Amino acid sequence: MTDLYPTSIDGIAAARAEILTRIAKAAKQAGRSDDAIDLVAVSKVQPDERIDAMLATGQRIFGENRVQEAQARWSDRRTAYPDLELRLIGPLQTNKAEDACALFDVIETLDREKLAGALVKAMEKTGRRPSLYVQVNTGDEPQKAGLAVGECVDFVRHCRRDLDLPVEGLMCIPPVQEPAAPHFALLSKLAERAAVTKLSMGMSSDFELGVRLGATSVRVGSALFGERVKA
Ligand SMILES: *Cc1c(COP(=O)(O)O)cnc(C)c1O
Repeated sequence: MTDLYPTSIDGIAAARAEILTRIAKAAKQAGRSDDAIDLVAVSKVQPDERIDAMLATGQRIFGENRVQEAQARWSDRRTAYPDLELRLIGPLQTNKAEDACALFDVIETLDREKLAGALVKAMEKTGRRPSLYVQVNTGDEPQKAGLAVGECVDFVRHCRRDLDLPVEGLMCIPPVQEPAAPHFALLSKLAERAAVTKLSMGMSSDFELGVRLGATSVRVGSALFGERVKA
């Protein structure tokens, strides 16, 4: 494995400090308080020593793409760090809804009726009610998860009113080859119309833009940990 990363605790801490500074600066430019913006450290595929180094910096909010990988990585660490906040940011299959409710504090990828139904049951069964974000396919990309733009507002209302689901925000992943700004602006407008207050938008390459356009959380992986090594 080539070592492109900040492996030492100091290197990880410096990377995190830099990202937090850039978030604060972007927030200030937009006339926002940086208290209103959570840094979600995307830890998928990262080796244990980098996760532990990140925990040592005081970082407590982490994002994961896959339920099983997250269980393996976080089940024990959860006990050691009771103030952890774990977020699912990858697609969720209905047969994993119960495991996801048991582990995560926020599920950012609610994107269909069938999954909403599975989450209702999973919440009853586990007694846990993670906060939910609806993922919106703002670029209308056929291969990408997420609800169509035109369905998003009604879906949020339906989930809250008819299913009593704790939907609190929206999330999007803009098409890689397009400028992100119009997608972030659209998501922000949809959130207003759907009356939700949380906006998950912005990754390593565009989190400052996300902050300027109203993100309440940004999902940063490689800029914090270094490039991911393929498993
Ligand atoms: C991997 C991933 C990220 C982090 O990507 P980076 O470019 O490494 O910051 C953010 N959001 C989602 C949904 C991801 O899958």
